[in-house]
Amino acid sequence: MPRKFFVGGNWKCNGTRESIAKICEEFAKGPSVADAPVEVVIGVPFIYVDYTREKLRKDWELAVENCWIGKGGAFTGEISAEMVKDAGVPWVILGHSERRHLPELKESDETIATKVAYALANGIKVMACIGELLAEREAGKTQEVNERQLAAIAAKLKEDDWKNVVIAYEPVWAIGTGKVATPEQAQEVHEQVRTWVGAHVSPAVAADVRILYGGSVTAANCKELAGKPDVDGFLVGGASLKPEFLEIVDSYKSK
Ligand code: PEP
Repeated sequence: MPRKFFVGGNWKCNGTRESIAKICEEFAKGPSVADAPVEVVIGVPFIYVDYTREKLRKDWELAVENCWIGKGGAFTGEISAEMVKDAGVPWVILGHSERRHLPELKESDETIATKVAYALANGIKVMACIGELLAEREAGKTQEVNERQLAAIAAKLKEDDWKNVVIAYEPVWAIGTGKVATPEQAQEVHEQVRTWVGAHVSPAVAADVRILYGGSVTAANCKELAGKPDVDGFLVGGASLKPEFLEIVDSYKSK
């Protein structure tokens, strides 16, 4: 079975009720994907989940952008996977580089892996982000970093869990910088990631798991990236707040 193309949006800490209503109106102009070989999921700030659901086209799904490492309780300001489930949100983005690297957050591989396992155990599907810093790429450590981040997650999952995971390879130097990886750079890493999954999880999971590319994806560069054999879709930040996101969704046709 071919892997179904996947386009995720990540609104990060952006938006107002007014801007959300406007962009959802723009998104509604695109053709239905209900029967198309593409899945579209928009990551939104917790506080706008219900509002976005009301405004967003019904053939796209919602994600939240984080959740707590375990069961809820005395964790002021946190949102548990049980609450995400209760709110009817099927997906969560975990391990985003902003949560890994912002000095105020500094989530470790271990924390992220714990969150991934807990979300999955509670019926939430996960976009699991990995990716190297510029200095790590320049030091020739791209593969090592991606494999370390993946290994932390894989250590906490059963083989069956992977059917509810998409991996987002997001080189940190490409996120929000306008500096997109070349299709060749993306393909090289995606192939390494798939090979790693084949060796350390199973060949069947490697064949099925979707590996998204993220980092300055736009309407202008998505088609060429989508044409690469191991690029199964995108995780899109800035452009998911703009009407051009519709063109990125449409890039499944370049597969
Ligand atoms: C992201 O936030 O996951 C991302 C890839 O951002 P951008 O598309 O803006 O680089």
